[in-house]
Parts: sequence; structure tokens; C-alpha cells
Amino acid sequence: MLKGLLGLGRNAEGPDSGKPHGKASGASARDLARQQLIDDIGTFLIGNDLDISEANLTAAFGICSGSTPAVAQKYTELRAEGHPVTQTWIDEQRGGTSDTIARIADKLDRSLEDFASTSRDARKTAAQYSSEMQVHVEKASEMQEREEIRNLATLAMAMLERTQHLEQEMHRSEREAAALRRRLAKARRDADHDHLTGLPNRRAFEGLLTRQYAEAERRHEALSVAFCDIDNFKRINDIHGHDTGDRVIQAIAGALAKISDDNCHVARHGGEEFVMLFRGLDKVEAALRLDEVRETFAKRSFVNRQSDEPIGQISFSAGVADVFAYPSSRDALKAADVALYAAKAQGRNRIVTAG
Ligand code: GH3
Ligand code: MG
Ligand code: MG
Repeated sequence: MLKGLLGLGRNAEGPDSGKPHGKASGASARDLARQQLIDDIGTFLIGNDLDISEANLTAAFGICSGSTPAVAQKYTELRAEGHPVTQTWIDEQRGGTSDTIARIADKLDRSLEDFASTSRDARKTAAQYSSEMQVHVEKASEMQEREEIRNLATLAMAMLERTQHLEQEMHRSEREAAALRRRLAKARRDADHDHLTGLPNRRAFEGLLTRQYAEAERRHEALSVAFCDIDNFKRINDIHGHDTGDRVIQAIAGALAKISDDNCHVARHGGEEFVMLFRGLDKVEAALRLDEVRETFAKRSFVNRQSDEPIGQISFSAGVADVFAYPSSRDALKAADVALYAAKAQGRNRIVTAG
């Protein structure tokens, strides 16, 4: 599907071109297509130096199979401009998907609310007229002398039974709608949180930043953002394994979360990167606050729980920027990211302010 579009190190004219590995000639067209897709996904991930993770495999499948044409199109444009595919780019594409899901969830929630309220009103009205009708029907049934009245009473009785049955059904639907809304609320809470650390995720952070930006601007309060990234984290994964790496991410998340309060927010931006927001603190004050966490954390010594091998000290670096020094919060985040790279270049385990 994506042949040529990948253009990442595979020699399309080479001796193996077009041939699936290890397949005998005579393989079916379906086999060839499947092998081609596997090859493309592998080339996409390895060529772009991306981890073999669930998120990346999903993105690679979407792009290589063409099942996410909008993302495949953006990928083509990115490559045409000569930019590499980064983890951040992949995460951004997923962010777009979760925004769409969030919009659908909003709509569903409103529909469920409307349905429950209409059903409640209809049930109440039905209950009211059916109890009034009950009295009249009982009276009419006693008037046995006229056939028309007897027939009418029988008909009304049947109607009454049906209405009462309908009432029960509506009540059941209302309960189901309420249960669905509760499940939806939980799914939306989960969608805003990162499972590994329990911290808000990048999407939730973006929403928070928009709200805090507007409020801080209105009240003329300082606002700063920070990007934090674990130092030499690949090495921890390589030596001690992914599970230990995950625990290190949790430990740093915990240390950063300790200083968070109503004016300080931390979120997992993706991978081993965290993003923070400091309300009422400028970049220098925020950097000092973050430096205390950095210093305390860097003094701790970690041990691999599975092998009891020492991991040693783990540090992180960060870049901090004043939000209102830039045209937008997005630009401020970029400036914090640039400062983070300066912190890495200066030797890591430090906090650098932007500008
Ligand atoms: P630097 O000091 O320059 O930041 O070096 P680094 O080795 O930390 O490099 P980088 O920040 O690029 O490393 C990111 C690594 O984080 C790559 C990937 O293997 C790992 N990673 C990303 N997400 C996860 C995760 O959820 N769990 C684990 N265990 N590793 C992850
Ligand atoms: Mg990183
Ligand atoms: Mg790192």
C-alpha cells in the first residue's frame, strides 16, 4: 500500500525487492500482501527509530495499511518536507483521534440525557392517565346492561394493560440510560489519565493550560511551563528491562506530583517526558521549585526489584519558560522544550530557563 512512500532505507530496486522473506514461490496474493504489510510496518518503525509499542504499532498499521488515510496523508507531507517521524508526532496524531472520540462522547452524553428526560416525562404522563382511566374502566365494567359500554370497557382494559407494560419498559430504559451515562463518565475520566502513572495525560494538560492561560491573563498573574525528561533513560531500559523502566517513570511521576497543588500541575506528556504548569510563578521561581525536586530525586539510589542489581542514581533535566513571554502557550511550550535540550547539552541533571 505504502510502497515508495516509506522511502526509508529499503532498496526498492534491490535483489529482494517485492519478494516476501522466506516465502516459497507460489505464495498466494493474500500472503504476499500480508508479508508486504508486515515489511512496511517494520520499515516504518525501525526506519523512524520508534519503539515497538502498542501505540506505535497501531499508528504504523494505520499508515501502512491505509486504514487511517488522513494520518497517512500527513505522513506523506511530513516526509516530503524532509522531516523525521518522532514519537511526539505519533502521539499528536493519537491526540487527534481522542479529540474526535471526546466529541462523540459529548454528543452521546447529551443524547442519553435527552432520552432519559423524554422517557421520564412520557412515563409520568402515562402513569397519571392510566390511574385515572383505571377508575373509569372499573366503573364502566360494572355497567353490564349495554353491550357498547361492555365492549368499550374491554378495549380500555387492554389499553390500560399495554400502557402499564410500556411504563415498566420506559422505567427500565431510563435505568439503562443512567447506567450508560455513568460508564461514559468513567470512560471520559480514563481518557484524560495516563494508566502507568495515574497522572493527567497530554490531552488533559492541553485543556488545563487553555483554562489556566485565560484565567492568569485576566488576573495578571505569572504563568510558566516546564518540560521534564529523564536522563539517559534508554540505558535503564536496555540494562534493566522495560518493566524497571516503567517503575522509574512512576517514581519520577510521583516525585513531580508531590509538589503539585491547585497552582502547580503535572502531566505525562508521553514516553518519559512530563510537562508542568506553574501558576503565580515566573520561570525563575518555577525553575527553583523544580530544582528542589531534581536535587532530592538525584540523591536517591534505585535497585532493580527483580534482580536486586543496583540501578544507581537517576536524574532528570527540565526546561522552563514564561508563558506570557510568547505569542501563544504553544510557543511557550516549544521554548521550554528548547531549554530542555540546552539542559541536556549542558550535561543533564539540571533545570534551564528559556531565553
Ligand atoms: P536523554 O538523556 O537525552 O533524554 O537520553 P534518553 O536515553 O533518555 O533518550 P530519550 O529521551 O530519547 O529516550 C526515550 C526512551 O524512553 C525511548 C523509549 O525506549 C523509552 N520509553 C518511552 N516510553 C516508555 C515507557 O512507557 N516505558 C518505558 N519503560 N520506556 C519508555
Ligand atoms: Mg525523551
Ligand atoms: Mg530522556
